[in-house]
Amino acid sequence: MTARSEDIPFMSTLGLLLTYRCTIFCPHCLVEAGPERKEKMALGSAFGWIDEAAGYRNGTIRCIELTGGEPFYDLQTLALISDHAMNAGLSVSAITNAGWAETLEQAILTLNELPAIRKISISTDVYHQQFIPVGYVHNAIIAAELLGRKYDIAVTTDNEHDERYRSIIARLEKFVEPGRIRSTATVPAGRAMKQASALNRRHSPEPFMAACTASSVPVILPDGRVMACAGPMLTRQDSCPLCLGNLRKESLANVLDRAEINPLLHLLRVWGPHRMVSLLRDRGHGALLPKEYLCGSGCDICTKLLSDRRLANLLTSLLDEQKNRNVIAYARMQRLKEPEMVQRCHLDGSDMIDAANALLVPDA
Ligand code: SF4
Repeated sequence: MTARSEDIPFMSTLGLLLTYRCTIFCPHCLVEAGPERKEKMALGSAFGWIDEAAGYRNGTIRCIELTGGEPFYDLQTLALISDHAMNAGLSVSAITNAGWAETLEQAILTLNELPAIRKISISTDVYHQQFIPVGYVHNAIIAAELLGRKYDIAVTTDNEHDERYRSIIARLEKFVEPGRIRSTATVPAGRAMKQASALNRRHSPEPFMAACTASSVPVILPDGRVMACAGPMLTRQDSCPLCLGNLRKESLANVLDRAEINPLLHLLRVWGPHRMVSLLRDRGHGALLPKEYLCGSGCDICTKLLSDRRLANLLTSLLDEQKNRNVIAYARMQRLKEPEMVQRCHLDGSDMIDAANALLVPDA
């Protein structure tokens, strides 16, 4: 499973992680998928959650993104679920490793069996290509073009100067427009955590500054958890602050209504994970923070801070303060043009916003 390659409006798409099973076993996989994994989303649960999504707030959710593991592992289930989503009025995309595209003929046959899937996002990189050569990706793309499906490519690397990574990008650029390729950094999480020391990445005492775009798509896991993060925090336990709720205990509408006013989630979307660091430093908790962060990776900040129970609790309670909630709500309205948090919290514009609030200090 690899991150998607485009920015998506908040809550317009809902992810469904259908299975942890995968045809291959990549050493950097965030969800530790592989051929030996058995957990998958029950068909009845998938249908029910899709129906809830289709009925949520007058069509707020417009697209279902199917992911794994490898959702193409079980084509019959993939066809049933994608058809169900299409019949519920939702458009459907899928993240895949393209292992089903050994030949062009096979790629066309496979996509023909899946008429509801209108877009594929293909993950390929040094790790995937140990199992699935770039020729498969090429076949999948030609098949997608021939059948009028959209596509894009996500390439993960732990070192953007790595010759093998550069060679993959150069090969892809021969048959993919550059705008459809996005590189993402390997994060020491999931299976990659076990080889963290081997990751060839620079560190810095200052956190990477960039807003998170991967937290705009809530993802439902087979056990009913709904996660705000489609990246390395995806499979964390219920106690993780980025776990939005569990559909075995409450409705999707309840979970998503709460996500709409979740201050941590929107801090990550408005500014990025580095604002958690500035807030904690401002409140005198700097000594508890990590000494260094991976260069170029916001996910590394989330992984380090939100996996630490003490820091996570501190952040939760700081972000619960009304003055911080207000700042986040207004910043979200101003920067992302999303007034929902201001409206739902009944802020009327006269609420005092302290210009010296640590969340508002400009990035250096
Ligand atoms: S920045 Fe944080 S919330 Fe966003 S994808 Fe990375 S780990 Fe998840």
